[in-house]
Amino acid sequence: MSFIPSCKEVSELLSQAQERPLTFPEKFALHVHLPLCKGCRNFREQLGFIRAAVRRYIDQDDTPR
Ligand SMILES: [Zn+2]
Repeated sequence: MSFIPSCKEVSELLSQAQERPLTFPEKFALHVHLPLCKGCRNFREQLGFIRAAVRRYIDQDDTPR
């Protein structure tokens, strides 16, 4: 049994990280997996883009016109 999580587990953790703080073992799992896996790093970047885009949209919405 490996302590390195699968890509499926990692992508789920990355999604959940948008909604709640990750526990220490979860963060550790990402820390172990991400340097080894380009696919999951790309996935994390895409999530970051979505998050930034949503924040931009919300900021615009708050601005009075
Ligand atoms: Zn992966």
